[in-house]
Amino acid sequence: MIIAIDGPAASGKSTAARSLASRLGLTFLDTGAMYRAVTLVILDRGISTSDEFACKTVASDVRLEFDGEGKILIGGMPGEPGIRGQEVNLHVSEVAAHSGVRRAMVRLQRRIADQSVEAGGGVVAEGRDTTSVVFPTADLKVFLIASPRVRAERRAKEEGRPELADEYEKDLKRRDDIDSSRADSPLTETDDAVRIDTDKLSPEEVLDAITDLARARR
Ligand code: C5P
Repeated sequence: MIIAIDGPAASGKSTAARSLASRLGLTFLDTGAMYRAVTLVILDRGISTSDEFACKTVASDVRLEFDGEGKILIGGMPGEPGIRGQEVNLHVSEVAAHSGVRRAMVRLQRRIADQSVEAGGGVVAEGRDTTSVVFPTADLKVFLIASPRVRAERRAKEEGRPELADEYEKDLKRRDDIDSSRADSPLTETDDAVRIDTDKLSPEEVLDAITDLARARR
């Protein structure tokens, strides 16, 4: 079974997808972590994020895997917490807009899903284009939305830094703009996705709503 969950930055996709995967015994596929990992390597190597060819080369060559908890490994080493840092936040959307980078990531995402399905399981994937481009025939597609303010406050609270909500709001609006307006695989809501507005829902309520949808389609 393939479940695809998309939505703007910090809309609660990861929390919902991770818990859903564990409830249903499926593999959690955090596609954002993959773009973040490529960006981290690019920054570490001092490569310019606007150099499409160099970015594409890193994306094709870097060895990315997920551990048993769905956490990304870069060349066998933990990508967390480096991939969540401020520098990566600032540059990831520029890197993710390069078509060559996207092609390499989508290939790997589909390979992970195929292996999981062949082993009798499946994936819960989350990101920006998992419903539209990566898994167009997913068994269930969900599009999560929430207002920028609510998303920023949630993210700041999660990080234990409520005073940073304004800064987070700016960062996620900036990323949403780039992610929605890029030429290749922009963030879009597909007609066959179920939209859930999470503004007034707790993480448990979001998880329960998606679990019900998934069980009905199984
Ligand atoms: O989901 P997360 O916020 O970790 O994603 C980081 C960035 O990676 C996004 O802002 C977007 O630029 C990029 N991304 C993407 N396509 C995906 C997942 C993430 O372009 N499927």
